[in-house]
Amino acid sequence: MHQKQHSTRNPDHSNHLKTKPLKKYFLLLLSLYSFSVSAQDWNKKKCAVVLTYDDALNVHLDKVVPALDSFKLKGTFYLTAAAAPFSKRLPEWKKVAANKHELANHTLFHPCDGSQPGRSFVTPDYNLATYSVRRIQDEVKMTNAALEALDGKKERTFAYPCGDTKVAGVSYLDGIKGEFVAARGVQGVMVQNSPTDLYNVGSFMINGQTGDELISMVKKAMETNSMIVFLFHGVGGEHALNVSLDAHRKLLQFLKQNEKEIWTTTFLEAAKYMKATGSAQKTN
Ligand SMILES: [Zn+2]
Repeated sequence: MHQKQHSTRNPDHSNHLKTKPLKKYFLLLLSLYSFSVSAQDWNKKKCAVVLTYDDALNVHLDKVVPALDSFKLKGTFYLTAAAAPFSKRLPEWKKVAANKHELANHTLFHPCDGSQPGRSFVTPDYNLATYSVRRIQDEVKMTNAALEALDGKKERTFAYPCGDTKVAGVSYLDGIKGEFVAARGVQGVMVQNSPTDLYNVGSFMINGQTGDELISMVKKAMETNSMIVFLFHGVGGEHALNVSLDAHRKLLQFLKQNEKEIWTTTFLEAAKYMKATGSAQKTN
């Protein structure tokens, strides 16, 4: 039977030649298809979720880390190194790093631009508007040194205090980008795994949302094959920008229950993935 088919097909040389371009076309389609899949792909999942917590609050050590650990999820903590809940609880932060959460840089003194509207909380000593670029860069580098002393890591990410990126019109991170893999900004946008400025990645500032509202934000990221970066401050108190412990727990529960479709990871790992898959914007 096989022999017969072989002998009848083989003499038809012209037919064999005709199929060759078709095969090439099929292979081209296949590679285009797999390219488009990988371009939308987040570590083989529908979306990526990054949980970030700003300003080194006691509640992050007391409530957030235990909640994340109970679901085996990892978070990114943007630490202000001079804040007391950081400087007075160093051994605990060291344990947080040992447990694979990310210790990330949110400067030494959290300077914000006091010349912007709504910035009456900015004190003269830590007003970014009166800093030099050199001063903020030195403080950022010193914070990296403090964090490296705790976790031994050379790779790190940064978040701009108050989202302010400039001193007198100059982007202060420009000269020290080599210190960081990526930086988180504050513009509320879903992130696509397509060419993106990794030194000002969007995030959603959370304040008062319910658990269901937080979950619906993740569902939107799943539908649009996006990465969503959550920006938390207070979780169950300690900051004017706050979300309840219950809402936060509901979000973590949803992420865990849907972990086959959702990649919950640190900002560092997400940024490295975007670089590795060629989606980081070439900035130089
Ligand atoms: Zn902050």
